Amino acid sequence: MAWLNDFSEAAVAHLIPGRLLTADAASSIAMRRIRRWVLSCDLEHECSSADVPLPTRVLDVDADLTYRGIKLIETYGRTGRYITLSHSWGQYHTLTTTRATFARRKGGIGMEEVPKTFQDTIFLARMLHVRYIWIDSLCKSFSSRLLK
Ligand SMILES: [Zn+2]
Repeated sequence: MAWLNDFSEAAVAHLIPGRLLTADAASSIAMRRIRRWVLSCDLEHECSSADVPLPTRVLDVDADLTYRGIKLIETYGRTGRYITLSHSWGQYHTLTTTRATFARRKGGIGMEEVPKTFQDTIFLARMLHVRYIWIDSLCKSFSSRLLK
């Protein structure tokens, strides 16, 4: 149906509230919109997650200004704000934390080591000034070989 091709995102954007005007999810328009949603949630809703107990282990995306990667940290009851990434592990062996890799993960994880989905989440967290991320495959245990 050729007529469908005549509709661009921008042309139908006014018909759908909240519809992004840009196809690039990392554009400044998209980032401003995400910031506005979070601000609206903070100011107008009771669902704000500004300072909650953190999970046992989280990724610190801002642990060290001289280190551009991320670090796995243990929170020991600390509170803060965090983003959760729930994702499909897919067919490939995704990045996990085991007893063998735990110490290394605490020492730092390079951006080149993590899948694109993780990189995008880290970018988003930094853009929103959210210091912590919880990613199941890196922060949670799934078998006896992985961390408890
Ligand atoms: Zn809300």
